[in-house]
Amino acid sequence: MRKFIVAGNWKMNTTVPEGVELAKAVLEKAKDIPANVELIVAPPFTHLVSVADALKGSRIAVSAQNCADEEKGAFTGEVSADMLVSAGCSYTILGHSERRQYYGETDAKLVKKVRLALSRNLKVILCVGENLKEREAGKHFDVVRAQIENVLFNFSAEELKSIVIAYEPVWAIGTGKTATAEQAEEIHRCIRSIIEEKFGPAAADDMTILYGGSCKPSNAKELFACPDIDGGLIGGAALKADDFIGIALSF
Ligand code: PEP
Repeated sequence: MRKFIVAGNWKMNTTVPEGVELAKAVLEKAKDIPANVELIVAPPFTHLVSVADALKGSRIAVSAQNCADEEKGAFTGEVSADMLVSAGCSYTILGHSERRQYYGETDAKLVKKVRLALSRNLKVILCVGENLKEREAGKHFDVVRAQIENVLFNFSAEELKSIVIAYEPVWAIGTGKTATAEQAEEIHRCIRSIIEEKFGPAAADDMTILYGGSCKPSNAKELFACPDIDGGLIGGAALKADDFIGIALSF
């Protein structure tokens, strides 16, 4: 069964006390969200233990924003999949465009990261998406296909059940420019068909595909009404409990 998900990527925002407050505010307002919508928050690493503690036993899952591509050892500054699990995470975001753009995240690295995360029972939100130049050159379908083939095609249909795809056009992230529902739906439909080609119709039908890029309460309804859009990965609007919940109420 395909899951509907609204996930908040807090990026490098909030102090630990502010993050705990935000998590509590989201929890407080979450009671009206339909039970079939999964809520996830992804605070910075430093907040994970405190936020997971504040949300313990609740319907809100905790995600990291990244995870190391090595198990453990001399990798200064890295945070491993085991550490994330022990901190209370059940998800990790991987391959966010900001990591690809600023920190040299490659598809090859992502394969290692996804493999490690899954081996520790961490579910993965795998981000894909084209930049403005690629969109303007009409290459967006090819770029997204390559990202999916390079990473996801290394896994089995069984492993795919623990992976969620987030399509995030880079030109729409944090810019206030949202893809139109038509632009988003055509790529989501294409992603689902790529999954179907490789893994079959059941895997494609079960795959949760999120949209990300300046999603807010005012545009979420139209996006989520599309048949292949199963929720959102939310950046800026996830920093305000009312906006995040407003988006989750848009199904
Ligand atoms: C994101 O970075 O994942 C994102 C979708 O950001 P924003 O909602 O701020 O565009």
